[in-house]
Parts: sequence; C-alpha cells; structure tokens
Amino acid sequence: MHPLRAFDIAFVGLPAGVTEFVYTVDEEFFRHYPGSLIEQADVQVNLFFDKQPSFFLLTFRMTGTIRTNCHRCDAELDFPVSLNRAVVVKFDSHREDEADDSHADVVYLRRSDSHLSVAQMIYDFLSLSLSERSITCDQLPVPRTCDPAVTARLQLAAPVADDHRWDELRKIKIR
Ligand SMILES: [Zn+2]
Repeated sequence: MHPLRAFDIAFVGLPAGVTEFVYTVDEEFFRHYPGSLIEQADVQVNLFFDKQPSFFLLTFRMTGTIRTNCHRCDAELDFPVSLNRAVVVKFDSHREDEADDSHADVVYLRRSDSHLSVAQMIYDFLSLSLSERSITCDQLPVPRTCDPAVTARLQLAAPVADDHRWDELRKIKIR
C-alpha cells in the first residue's frame, strides 16, 4: 500500500454526519514531497469529516512541531504549530452555486470520484504555516537567544547587497 493511501478517504461509504480521522505527519510523510521545505515534523492531525448531502465540510486540527530554521540566526528549531483549517468539498455540478462566504477553501470533486485525498491539503496547510509568520528563537515556548555570532555575521553581510557605492562604477563602460 502506498503510504499516503491512508490519506485517501473513501467518502462514498461514510455515514452522514461527522467522522473523525487521526493522522500523524512526520518525516515519512514529507519524504513523498520532493523539494519540500519541511523534512522533519511531528504533527497530529485530527480531521473532522462532516458529510452533508450536497457538500462535505472538512475541519483540520493540527498540533505538534515542525523542524525548521530560525529566520534570524539559522539555528535548527522544532517549532510548535497549532492550526485549525477548514475546507469545503463540493461536487462539480454545484459549481454554479451562489458565492460561498464561509471563508473556507473550496475543493471540487467530480461526480465519478469515490475518494478524496487529504494529504496535499495537509501538506499545503503546514508548509504555508511556516511562511505566514516569522520564526525566530525567541518565538519558542521556551524562548532562546539567537546565536550572536551568526546574527553579527548576517548583519555584516546584509549591507553589501544595498551598497550603492558601486552604482556609479557600473555605469562606466569599458571601451
Ligand atoms: Zn535564532
């Protein structure tokens, strides 16, 4: 069985109402996403799948840690995440419905579909959560001080990119 197969929900056979699915998202999960910014994580996902007659409402609760690097000093951190996200799943034939104002993401399925994969949704939510906020040592539950040696080096390096002293020189054309 493909490891991500566990994330395929056979919704046809689900009873009406809410069914809960529990997943653990870790290194093994992210190995299936080449180029992923996340390689290591330990996140529990509780998915509440609410099967309604004309749509499904998926509520994801994700808690745990994602291994990443401090944006300031590049130190490796197991950064805590606690996210709630909702996705509305509709069938193609309902696409003409009036605008949805629930603020949830909307995903469309074909009437012929029998499975819905939530792996990509979970991957996207977790990856986006890292880009949405600043991640620094002092944001940890037990705050740390950034590595002063590295921050000093980065601060020294930064002005070079904005150094305009070379602009005039660049205008000079060598004939
Ligand atoms: Zn840091």
